[in-house]
Amino acid sequence: MTEARGIKLVLFGPPGAGKGTQAQLLKERLGIEHVSSGDLFRHHLSNGTELGELARGYMNRGELVPDQVTIGMVIDRIGQISDAQGFMLDGFPRNAAQAEALETALRERGQAIDKVVHIQVDDGELIRRLSNRYICRACQRPYARDAETGVPPAKCADCPDGGDIYQRDDDTEEAVANRLSIYHQETAPVLEFYRQRGLLADIPGEQTIDAVHHAVLRILDAAHAATVSKS
Ligand code: AMP
Repeated sequence: MTEARGIKLVLFGPPGAGKGTQAQLLKERLGIEHVSSGDLFRHHLSNGTELGELARGYMNRGELVPDQVTIGMVIDRIGQISDAQGFMLDGFPRNAAQAEALETALRERGQAIDKVVHIQVDDGELIRRLSNRYICRACQRPYARDAETGVPPAKCADCPDGGDIYQRDDDTEEAVANRLSIYHQETAPVLEFYRQRGLLADIPGEQTIDAVHHAVLRILDAAHAATVSKS
């Protein structure tokens, strides 16, 4: 039985690895908060805030939004979550400066990341998944085209008023290529930062959603058991 309340987790992996899907499952099962930097930016975009306008161009091109904006936004959000509840970060940190800023901000609060779960998927599979990805405008739940009709659902099954399903502007072929190249150049090196701290666990991401979910739960169980035996 996974006992993970209060855990501070980073879900790490390239765009399309399934971090958002896994975060949703973990949230339903364990009640820990899901903090997705991409969702926070999309929320600002749809509310037309200054921060959203600033981020728009970078997002549409598939580039990273500058650290001065991103780090403050995510650290503020984490600061609203109680220590007892815990959180999982999805899409952050995405470069070395973000990883260091996160570590410093948590240390100042007497906290630390407990585990980094790295979901590994090859580029070919990521391109296939992202070009077939649609999401709900209201709750961000991901959908794919129907295997038989080739059409995505029009409305979200989870949202009370049936949120609109749409394809993200940055899931175009050009933006996807850019995002993958930035992932390899700037984001993947952050794995070494966490490996050195003994926090990294790798999971093959080209399995069923359920198999990945159970692999994540096993990792959280082991992390929890290690914490209990230390205390
Ligand atoms: P995602 O939903 O995680 O794929 O993020 C969508 C877009 O938001 C990215 O392509 C970036 O433009 C921006 N973004 C999200 N997270 C970050 C981050 N940690 N650093 C910089 N930009 C980010």
